[in-house]
Amino acid sequence: MTIRRDDAVRMDRDDPLARFRARFRLPDGVIYLDGNSLGPLLHTVRDRLDKVRDAEWGEALIRAWNAHHWFDLPKTVGDKIAALIGGGSGNVVAADTTSVNLFKMLSAALQLRPGRPVILSDNGNFPTDLYIAEGVAGAAGSDRRLQIVAPEEVAGAIADEVAVVMLTEIDYRSGRRHDMGEITARAHEAGALMLWDLSHSAGALPVDLLGADADFAVGCGYKYLNGGPGAPAFLFVHPRHQDKIRPPLSGWWGHEAPFAFDTDYRPADGIARQLCGTQPILSLAALDTALDLWSELDITDLREKSIRLSELFIAAVDGFAGEFGLTLASPRDPDARGSQVSWRHADGYAVMQALIGRGVIGDFRAPDIIRFGFAPLYIRYVDAWDAAAALNEVLATKAHLNPEYRRRAAVT
Ligand SMILES: *Cc1c(COP(=O)(O)O)cnc(C)c1O
Repeated sequence: MTIRRDDAVRMDRDDPLARFRARFRLPDGVIYLDGNSLGPLLHTVRDRLDKVRDAEWGEALIRAWNAHHWFDLPKTVGDKIAALIGGGSGNVVAADTTSVNLFKMLSAALQLRPGRPVILSDNGNFPTDLYIAEGVAGAAGSDRRLQIVAPEEVAGAIADEVAVVMLTEIDYRSGRRHDMGEITARAHEAGALMLWDLSHSAGALPVDLLGADADFAVGCGYKYLNGGPGAPAFLFVHPRHQDKIRPPLSGWWGHEAPFAFDTDYRPADGIARQLCGTQPILSLAALDTALDLWSELDITDLREKSIRLSELFIAAVDGFAGEFGLTLASPRDPDARGSQVSWRHADGYAVMQALIGRGVIGDFRAPDIIRFGFAPLYIRYVDAWDAAAALNEVLATKAHLNPEYRRRAAVT
């Protein structure tokens, strides 16, 4: 390879974020390049889970809702996430799943733009985003519909009939990045609203929702935010809309006075009306603690390291990619890319299985993409180098042709 391993070792020595790696539990012999799908366990999160289980649930029982502030968690966790995505305090809650929050935000957008039938999205979007949009359009009835165009065609497709543009900033397959400020401005010019999915952005790069003037946003808690499997998701509503929305999921947690137990629904003021029912407190507590680490660092440093890691990996793989039928699926320009690098290979599934067999964990996205996520809090430059070397070795020895790497499991 064109880059020497010693250079990577030197970059790690000078890395201002290096100290964060020890905060995570990372198994020996594993290079974990899948933190964009499921972030690893922080030691502080393990301790918090022990405490919530034993001292709070175990001992305080139902008193913990007040004594340990369980009831406030969606908002306190929401505020921590807001600080990371430029959402502003009081404009974000952590609750439910990304899919459910997409339902809430799309329903809100259609309410606010009654004469406009179209939800506009792109064909690089994550399937659940498109499926939920189809469901919301169907439930809204009449001529409401989802329109899907190519990512480069979105800006040109924002016509008068578009109620809301729904995009994921970072494409989950290729890592391609949409220009948030530009597309939001274009949507507003046409009288449409803008909904951003930040699942692959939050905790991966700087985001400024208020600066971009976004109307709505959603995102995941279990990817770069390290909240744990099935961690609650988040949603953002710009303050200009919060009190105008009548939530279709009008559950008691979004009621003005949940413990009045009234028979009629009156939505709470502000973002709280976007809550629905009782939340998974163990998971919310885990996410709450996982988020504390972000106040210790500057996200622009994180982004800088993410780019350097990705550039190192691309340069190393470029040295042998052509020989083995690998082509870069991510943009070459780091500004146009998130915190992942993806390659296409005709036998991608088996290649990734062979890598996982060597302790290099990335993932495969159909039909032919192998994906490597670079989470700068715990990935070292030397990990990027070693992952590239392992990929070279798999391809050079044709290890992926081994039948054991070709059997498909349910989760890829
Ligand atoms: C990961 C991801 C989701 C996941 O949604 P869930 O409801 O948590 O299963 C949705 N959208 C995007 C863009 C994602 O990357």
